[in-house]
Amino acid sequence: MDVRSRETTRPDGDLRYRVDHVGATVAVLPATCKAGQHSLTVTGYRAVASEGELHVSCRACTLTLVADSTWRLTIARPSTERAELDDEPYRDVLPSPSRTPVRRR
Ligand SMILES: [Zn+2]
Repeated sequence: MDVRSRETTRPDGDLRYRVDHVGATVAVLPATCKAGQHSLTVTGYRAVASEGELHVSCRACTLTLVADSTWRLTIARPSTERAELDDEPYRDVLPSPSRTPVRRR
């Protein structure tokens, strides 16, 4: 199989993890939607694991049909029991906050 044919549908990066105070691994999802317009803690999101990737879509962008609003993160570890939202580990892939401010209510 030619993997180069999948280049146009590259993931946005690896799913990040952290270890909590009891040593359990927690999946960390971006707190801002991929379009950079919404805080997922405010609008809500949908996370679906598919073929080694976690797809995190913003509910607000889905409703308004914003293109390319779904994060595609490569799953590197077995599924975790918990997940949380945090932008900090995703600074390198997030849209620039100065140009696309996150709306907070
Ligand atoms: Zn959004």
